[in-house]
Amino acid sequence: MIKNESIENLLATVDIVDVVEKYVPLKRSGANFVGVCPFHDDSHPSMSVSSKLGIFHCFSCKAGGNAIKFIQDYEKISFPEAVEKLAGMYNFALQYTGAKVQERSEEKKVLGILNAYYQSCLYQNPAAVKYLHDRGLSDQSIRKFGLGYAGASAQTIRVLQNEEIPPQDALNAGAVKQNERGLYASFIERITFPIYNHASKLVGFGGRTISDNPAKYVNSPQCALFDKSKIFYAFDLAKKSAIAKKTLIITEGYMDVIMLHQAGIDNAVAVLGTALTPAHLPLIKRAELNVVLSFDGDAAGINAAIKSARLLCLNKIDSSVAIIGGGADPADMIAAGKVRELEQIYASGMESGEFLIRRIAKKYDLARPVQKEAALNEIKEFTAALGPVLAESYQSLVAQILNVSPGSFNLSSGGKNFGAGFEGRNFNEGGSFGSRDFGSHEGRGADG
Ligand SMILES: [Zn+2]
Repeated sequence: MIKNESIENLLATVDIVDVVEKYVPLKRSGANFVGVCPFHDDSHPSMSVSSKLGIFHCFSCKAGGNAIKFIQDYEKISFPEAVEKLAGMYNFALQYTGAKVQERSEEKKVLGILNAYYQSCLYQNPAAVKYLHDRGLSDQSIRKFGLGYAGASAQTIRVLQNEEIPPQDALNAGAVKQNERGLYASFIERITFPIYNHASKLVGFGGRTISDNPAKYVNSPQCALFDKSKIFYAFDLAKKSAIAKKTLIITEGYMDVIMLHQAGIDNAVAVLGTALTPAHLPLIKRAELNVVLSFDGDAAGINAAIKSARLLCLNKIDSSVAIIGGGADPADMIAAGKVRELEQIYASGMESGEFLIRRIAKKYDLARPVQKEAALNEIKEFTAALGPVLAESYQSLVAQILNVSPGSFNLSSGGKNFGAGFEGRNFNEGGSFGSRDFGSHEGRGADG
């Protein structure tokens, strides 16, 4: 926890006019400053900012508060995050109560050193650059996403030794691993994708093999800094556009994200595992985003879409599922110049609840009455957990799919009700989610 006294000192140090001006142009008006309000659709400056009082106030939508509140509302982040962001802007050292928040600065230093080193290696490796160009990536995208190349294990180890990095720090950062023969690099002969968390902090890497390693993609090992269950790849780059478009496109892979951004669809991110997890939801909810799930059309992709769609439905996040036919992924579509088609697919995705209901119905032979009833019961298990209003909104859809009269069943009760919650029930249609990792269809094996 940040000390209250420390927050008060921070607010006393900063000038709110200076803070707001980092986001919105302001003009002097008498003793105060005025600007266009970012919190409603403002055409003429309705927002007043007072240095003396340390507050902003909108005369139209009544938004208002101090500098922390402004950052919190503008960036759609939590109060402590806004305090830390403000402190960061002015190099203000916050004080914490109780257990001091772990800075993990040693680990961050290791990642920063390796990121710079990997980036410096990329263009010295023609095979890696050729791979990226062949996939359709521009040099501009390669720079924007900070792609690099990790060569032999010994090279990475030597860089860390030259920088006098203690081995334990390198291990804690997930940069190296250890076996009975000693330390070896986590990324060997791989294109590297630096992974930043929502606060734009470098927390790990993804790596794509360019040799014939059966594990096509690997991520940094799970560690204190890198918790892949709650990180979206490129969320920091996509957030602004996603908020403006009120929609977040969630894909399966680094390449999908980079190619989408390259094509101007810059509200796209990727999960770092197979599917969305409950730990991702706060980022989506806080920014008040709708979601388009863009997973591959293969069995594993469909399963990930089912699991993710269910999680979103149960948590009342408006979402749709956009499956690309013919085994193509978003990166392939863009490389083939089919940007308009892809935008069309995203705009016409199927609402997630309908998607789930149709997937359930598909498992049964609806020409047979007993199976039809079993399908209805399974659908009810899902809808009953949504609450009565949402459940009822699927009534006519289910009646139509099952070809029964809408008055003959009630979707808000029955089934084996498992209750709404973060997890929901495992909705697996046979494949194992755990066996598939981030676009690596062979699964994720040991690297090196
Ligand atoms: Zn306003």
